Amino acid sequence: MCINRIILKTFEFKSPYLIQKLSDVLKEIFKIEVIYKGSIPIPKNAYNAFRNQYLANTLLESLIYFRETPNDAVLGITKEDLYAQNLNFVFGIASAYYKSAIISTKRLHNSFYNLPQNEEIYLKRVYTEAVHEMGHVLGLPHCPNPNCVMFFSNSILDTDKKGYYFCPSCKEKVKKALCHHFK
Ligand SMILES: [Zn+2]
Ligand SMILES: [Zn+2]
Repeated sequence: MCINRIILKTFEFKSPYLIQKLSDVLKEIFKIEVIYKGSIPIPKNAYNAFRNQYLANTLLESLIYFRETPNDAVLGITKEDLYAQNLNFVFGIASAYYKSAIISTKRLHNSFYNLPQNEEIYLKRVYTEAVHEMGHVLGLPHCPNPNCVMFFSNSILDTDKKGYYFCPSCKEKVKKALCHHFK
């Protein structure tokens, strides 16, 4: 099923500025409609007090009901730190089956690494993680090209190096997963 719209949801915060900036980038990259549909509660059972983190999959599962048509994808954004099974943390996760993804902004702030806050760098990281997880939603695997947004990011250094654009080969795969390819 092709995708022709991205629905954005935030978990327990509102940030019109961030949403506007991110929407503009997603529209530029994917050339489809992007719409923000408000803030939702974080599922209580996602919290792991021992780790002081939230289980990414539980947040992801709470997003899938917000797709309104089979052509919708949904992208959630949380400020909380996320983890997944066997991983200390994740910047985000995605499901191509559920056409849903989630990203965390927690580790995208310079302040997380005891560096001076930099709004420009922070926004670029949000774009990079959002486009990467949307790539997975569209069925793309990781890419061996370290400059491609689909390169696997193990640290914030990888994220900063690669940026938020698809390499030519990934771009072709993205086009095929979007509805306007068939028009
Ligand atoms: Zn990935
Ligand atoms: Zn690539």
